[in-house]
Amino acid sequence: MKALVKKQREPGLWLEDVPKPEVGKNDVLIKIKRTSVCGTDVHIYQWDDWSQKTIPVPMTIGHEFVGEVVAIGENVHDVQLGELVSGEGHVVCGRCRNCLAGRRHLCNSTSGVGVNRPGAFAEYLAIPVTNVWHCDPAIDMDILSCFDPLGNAVHTALSFDLLGEDVLITGAGPIGIMAAAVARHAGARHVVITDVNDYRLELAQKMGVSRAVNVRTTQLKDVMDSLGMKEGFDVGLEMSGNASAFQDMIQNMCHGGKIAVLGIQQPETFIDWNTIVFNGLTLKGIYGREMYETWYKMTAMIQSGLDISQVITHKFHYTDYEKAFELMASGHSGKIVLNWEE
Ligand code: NAD
Ligand code: ZN
Repeated sequence: MKALVKKQREPGLWLEDVPKPEVGKNDVLIKIKRTSVCGTDVHIYQWDDWSQKTIPVPMTIGHEFVGEVVAIGENVHDVQLGELVSGEGHVVCGRCRNCLAGRRHLCNSTSGVGVNRPGAFAEYLAIPVTNVWHCDPAIDMDILSCFDPLGNAVHTALSFDLLGEDVLITGAGPIGIMAAAVARHAGARHVVITDVNDYRLELAQKMGVSRAVNVRTTQLKDVMDSLGMKEGFDVGLEMSGNASAFQDMIQNMCHGGKIAVLGIQQPETFIDWNTIVFNGLTLKGIYGREMYETWYKMTAMIQSGLDISQVITHKFHYTDYEKAFELMASGHSGKIVLNWEE
């Protein structure tokens, strides 16, 4: 089968013929229909420090997908051939304290599809049945292919009560923009999103945010004044991984404000601890998606009118992956979907 493979320990990605995955007795084999490209895939393409430490080669990459079930292992009973499925990219142990307590997103021995084990940028993917999500076929396939990053947005955004609250999102990448739509859907009052990239801020504006703010030219304090906000943001969603964005957020929260941190921070990121202490702020780190409450909530929200279609800005056939990766790296895109059907 065809697959996009990190073949050598250097920048790039190779379209290769690789063996079709074997289907273990607890596994489901999926014929891939659509995948979407994640920032992580771009990091692996570019072969940054994290990738060099993390990715064994050769490795088929990719973890955001939707496809059709074409084979099942002998222990699998509740998945039907022909079903439309997506899946959780974090494969957990099922035996540690957190897994046994139902907090599988906190498993201490997680392995990643397309990171530590063969991924979804391929004609076929095999994953354990416990990682399969049954899709509502009424939902558009391009949207279904984005359930993994939408799940990051939903997990982060729904960490704290949003109804009637003023929400600050730092970073209008694909996940920040989807989080803005989720915050709106969940009944936030003001949703303010920041970035330094005007293309992405325009995209965020289309999702109905109160303000899309370029922090290079506009101060958050002025935005808060213009919205009549006196005491600061109630909820912060850090989705940039940028130190000054995080610092700005901490300074502009109300007393007792709550911050969920998804963005991967640089080790030397400065945190103003005394503002956190004296203003009684709560910080919560977010990893992945809750299995499977997040998947349930994102399905239910889309069924009840959450519209993230505008965040998908480009679609390519998988053989045009070079163009897709170049565009994604340029910052002039939202989500990019690769089509694996003929
Ligand atoms: P992205 O890199 O596409 O988006 C980040 C955005 O932040 C970019 O648009 C960038 O221009 C913007 N930014 C840069 N400097 C800024 C500043 N000073 N103020 C405001 N915005 C600024 O990433 P994404 O795919 O949307 O993901 C968001 C973040 O979440 C990334 O840091 C990613 O690594 C992280 N992530 C974490 C998990 C997890 O499980 N914790 C999962 C997926 C992604
Ligand atoms: Zn576990």
